Amino acid sequence: MIHREDMRLPTSVGAVLGKLRDAGYEAYIVGGSVRDALRGLTPHDYDMTTSATPEEVKAVFAGDRVVETGIKHGTVTVMASGEPVEITTYRVDGDYRDHRHPDSVTFTRSLEEDLARRDFTMNAIAYAPGVGFVDPFGGCADIDAHIIRAVGEPERRFEEDALRILRALRFSSTLGFAIEEATAAAAYQKRDLLLNVSAERVREEVMKLLGGDGAGEVLRRYADILAVRLPEIRPMIGCAQHTPYHLFDVWEHTVRVVEGLPKDPLLRLAGVYHDAAKPACKSTDHNGQDHFHGHPAKSAVLLDERMAALRFDNKSRERAVLLVRLHDERPKPSDARILRLLSDIGYENFLLLCDLRTADNAAHNGAYPAIREEAKQIREMRERGIALVAAGACYRIADLAVSGRDITDATPYRGHEIGDALHYLLSAVMDSTVKNEREPLLAYLAAHPLP
Ligand code: ATP
Ligand code: MG
Repeated sequence: MIHREDMRLPTSVGAVLGKLRDAGYEAYIVGGSVRDALRGLTPHDYDMTTSATPEEVKAVFAGDRVVETGIKHGTVTVMASGEPVEITTYRVDGDYRDHRHPDSVTFTRSLEEDLARRDFTMNAIAYAPGVGFVDPFGGCADIDAHIIRAVGEPERRFEEDALRILRALRFSSTLGFAIEEATAAAAYQKRDLLLNVSAERVREEVMKLLGGDGAGEVLRRYADILAVRLPEIRPMIGCAQHTPYHLFDVWEHTVRVVEGLPKDPLLRLAGVYHDAAKPACKSTDHNGQDHFHGHPAKSAVLLDERMAALRFDNKSRERAVLLVRLHDERPKPSDARILRLLSDIGYENFLLLCDLRTADNAAHNGAYPAIREEAKQIREMRERGIALVAAGACYRIADLAVSGRDITDATPYRGHEIGDALHYLLSAVMDSTVKNEREPLLAYLAAHPLP
């Protein structure tokens, strides 16, 4: 089965293939690199599959640097002219009692058996120069039709390894492909098996998914599947918002916010959780209007706990939680308030917060005057913040025209008072009470002692 013209390979990759084949083994490029090449993209890395056992691969590359990266699964990495190439021996997987890892793997000399163990038809195509594309499951046609289809019986494939369910969703988001009906139905049916997947792998797939062009559509269509590992989604689905500001239930609003955000996975995760506590905070007044008092702080707590469970690093966690906590605050766009916000959260977070507030606002009832007015205020806040920083406005201790040394030299303050004095001065500068120049600052401190 030969398809389209030949695939262009980097010389180093071609050389590794050639060496294995000259030694009498079969060797092919496989997986994401073939898929990407068939989509007209340049692959970022090349996975290789071969009939040679890991020992045989090591013997062929005896003169090169070889690292045993996954010897148990038959993977070695060869450093070919500086570039690492992963070579995996053709294999068939044994049973999967834990719904995640095969109990054992067996090497085989059959390429077709190796391709049959792979997750989706688009990932089960092999290519070698001179041979062309080997595509026993119709992967090329599925790539042309933008379809993600399990190799073989989808229920069984997801039962073997539930991570594949998340991979299907992730690929749908990043490639913009639809998940074929039977494959999607099986993913839904087997969704609870996602509880067997490690926190780290869930986190990785969810973040890749959120970074994709189709993230919003995948969140919308497959909310029930994602809710198995992001359970805060469930109560948002169908949670009505009877207010003049809203047109959609909490989940549809949330999906629209994500769609309105740049493709930054962490920012989008904050988008997914920004209103997560609304269902729990909902009350309805005597006019039938809904209120969600205190939801930003509580949503921030829900996100914090979820990110801890998914083993996010502290820095990402703090950043996303901060954005959710502040998403509903409406500072008057005065310079003093903007400088204070910049001082509290930093410029980078300020820009992300503006993004989140912009997308949030845009997913509200745009016909309501207060919503349009708010959109204007957010725009002004963002533009003013950018202009202030570009103009070198003072909003950090480091921006002050005096240092701790100056405070020690010119005042009686010592120890922690020095930091207090600097913060006190920063505050006065941001309020435009005093000029950010050395003499006026020290004079101000002399005239207005620390409270
Ligand atoms: P990318 O690297 O762009 O994320 P990829 O398809 O190369 O996508 P990898 O995780 O690098 O994904 O895996 C390489 C190949 O291994 C896949 O294309 C697929 O053939 C196979 N594969 C990976 N994970 C699984 C899995 N959980 N079940 C079955 N096959 C898998
Ligand atoms: Mg890959």
